[in-house]
Amino acid sequence: MATTNKNQNSDAWEYSSALDTTKVTIESKSKLFIGGKFVSPKSRSWFATINPATETKLSDVACAGKADVEAAVKAAKTALPKWSRLSGTERAKYLYRVARRIQERAREFAILETMDGGKPIKESRDVDIPLAAQHFFYYAGWADKLAYAFPGSTPAPVGVCAQIIPWNFPLLMAAWKLAPALACGNTCILKPAETTSLTALRLAEVFQEVGLPDGVVNIITGEGDTGRLLAQHNTVNKVAFTGSTEVGKLLMRGTAGTGKKLTLELGGKSANILFADAAMDQAVEGIVAGIYFNQGHVCCAGSRLFVEEPILEEVIYKLKQRLGSLRVGDPLDKNTDLGAINSKSQLKVVEGYIRSGVKEGAQLHQLTTKRLPSKGFWCNPCFFTDVQPSHTIAREEIFGPVLSVMTFRTPEEAISRANNSPYGLAAGVWTDKGAKIFEVAKKLDAGIVWCNTYNKFDASSPFGGFKESGFGREGGMQGLRAYVRLGGV
Ligand code: NAD
Repeated sequence: MATTNKNQNSDAWEYSSALDTTKVTIESKSKLFIGGKFVSPKSRSWFATINPATETKLSDVACAGKADVEAAVKAAKTALPKWSRLSGTERAKYLYRVARRIQERAREFAILETMDGGKPIKESRDVDIPLAAQHFFYYAGWADKLAYAFPGSTPAPVGVCAQIIPWNFPLLMAAWKLAPALACGNTCILKPAETTSLTALRLAEVFQEVGLPDGVVNIITGEGDTGRLLAQHNTVNKVAFTGSTEVGKLLMRGTAGTGKKLTLELGGKSANILFADAAMDQAVEGIVAGIYFNQGHVCCAGSRLFVEEPILEEVIYKLKQRLGSLRVGDPLDKNTDLGAINSKSQLKVVEGYIRSGVKEGAQLHQLTTKRLPSKGFWCNPCFFTDVQPSHTIAREEIFGPVLSVMTFRTPEEAISRANNSPYGLAAGVWTDKGAKIFEVAKKLDAGIVWCNTYNKFDASSPFGGFKESGFGREGGMQGLRAYVRLGGV
């Protein structure tokens, strides 16, 4: 069964469009960044990156093959001795300069991120790009204080780091990986996701501008095979991966017994637990932001909502109201709440999950929007009620704007249902009672628990999961640990 909500704004209350029309130049060929220079791929292979909101080609991106991976790893290895011997104070100067340059070029970065990935400009402008700069600022601060982060040990860099990232927060994921690695004296090869390479390559321009020594960061674009070749390379000392649990498992098998360090940030099926005593409007705002932010392309999206039984009807009513006021459409419009799904293949995945929810007997509540552009990959946000824990939509990561609403009667039931998942990335607890927050939060198998808020990030806060959500932490002082050897380990 399905019910639909008309977009209430589409009649009397529609905003006029407020497009960001700033022009951003994009080269027709986006080359690899190796040894401080942009170079054509030895593989002679290229693939198109498109704007998912218009389906127009933005650029042909180099697809790095074996020889290109070899060249990038060699450049990183060559740059390592000098960079790792540089004092922390000197390394920090480069990182501060990178952070400031990202701020100076923030508008360009935000527009490019939105064009290449489909996320609303207000998110790339207010979240992705400022946080990316913040990570470089934050880890610049640690570069000359590593001895204080690990008292009693002498932290040494790990060496050459292979860093493989997904498409949901392209520049931010690059910053999460590169900033701590560089602060600790490592050299890096970054491999962006195939649909979102452009902001990482623009970051390479920033590295050139600030005079980062050649080879300290190399950026090789390509598909899964490029990532596989990079992770398997013998000279690589450390693999840092953010992406699907499936690829994470492959990397774990591939690095086992090689002596390579590994950190994995993988998928999630995070639970938001809403108690009857919570501030209801604030909670509904947080739940909506927790699932529809970045079209649900968020590993820690609060995709399972557990509502205390007596308030279910009220919550459904408020969710429907809020759904009706969300604006789906052109990501470059400053009023847009949900932009385009990142790719056609991801749209098919999300639509498949929505169909499975209906087929398995859950009730679909979906916004219908009149003004979706004729081209592009769009999915109206939705939520399901009458969801059973055995339903596919309640168990598997969807990575789209789809929420499963379920109920509980006691805190114990909420905890056990929230923990009943192979994942353990994030969770949210909404209640008026401080004691309940602490009691519930400490029993949740989740790397991050937000209380009376959701999806809040800060460079000083560690992020990472348990179980099939991976291991290792990024952000904060804890994020340094993956990039140092202490007493040889
Ligand atoms: P993905 O695993 O398909 O791809 C991620 C990256 O790995 C891409 O750069 C891809 O080219 C590369 N890759 C693919 N196959 C590879 C292989 N065999 N060896 C090495 N590299 C390979 O994931 P995706 O579809 O791009 O991203 C979505 C997934 O990422 C979701 O499951 C999401 O939960 C997860 N994610 C997790 C976090 C986190 O911090 N935990 C953050 C963002 C995304």
